Amino acid sequence: MPCLSCGNTTTCKAHIQPAAIGKDITKRSGGKTPSLLAPNQHRIQVGGLFDDNILCSKCDGKLGVFDDHAIAISRLLGTLHEVIDHRANRFTITYSDRVNHQQLALFGAAVAWRASVSKICRDLSGFTLGKNEAWFRDMIFRRNNEIPTVLIARIVGGNPISHEAAMTMLSYPVKIKIRGISLARFYVRGMMFLIQTTRNADASLLADAVTTFGGGAGLNCLTGSLMPFEKLGDLPQVEKSKYIQHVLSS
Ligand SMILES: [Zn+2]
Repeated sequence: MPCLSCGNTTTCKAHIQPAAIGKDITKRSGGKTPSLLAPNQHRIQVGGLFDDNILCSKCDGKLGVFDDHAIAISRLLGTLHEVIDHRANRFTITYSDRVNHQQLALFGAAVAWRASVSKICRDLSGFTLGKNEAWFRDMIFRRNNEIPTVLIARIVGGNPISHEAAMTMLSYPVKIKIRGISLARFYVRGMMFLIQTTRNADASLLADAVTTFGGGAGLNCLTGSLMPFEKLGDLPQVEKSKYIQHVLSS
């Protein structure tokens, strides 16, 4: 199939989630026990799911700019650059190079779009943007000025093992509903991304978005709410992951 953005017939190996994320996780968990919370983790490689039938290298590179920023931010979690304030239910990451909140929102939307247009991913997860696929494509390739409404929360564990387990999470988008609004949700290394997939404006979602609340502590900071690891709806799936099994048995 030609590139789904520009029609170029020469396509490349496009990752649904950035390959560097999977590699970072493998490195962190000792090289043998990645905790991939995927739709079907046994069929997903350590470097992550890819599809060589959706994008040409030029268009893949345009989205790669957003991927790179999300990767840079994810590498600051759990370091001295991050402050977790349980009382205020808030995390703050400070990045000297300046946080680009719009790029983080576009990263969330790009993962959702790639998951939706990839038959390989769709067959595993069942996730699709449906009739809003073209709208997402136009946003992430900047053919319009719209920025998707995306929320980023920090997954925090109640003990050191679950807190570390949150840092090795990687999942692909699934569809959920909050107050009747459809969202895509996925996890990347201690972060939960929620991407609004419908056009109806919701003031409270927008108020909590990475492009509003997320920048509230200044241009060099990313701020968001905390999400307890133990309260994740997908906890049974996480507990089945190879990483957790390895930790429990050692
Ligand atoms: Zn292209």
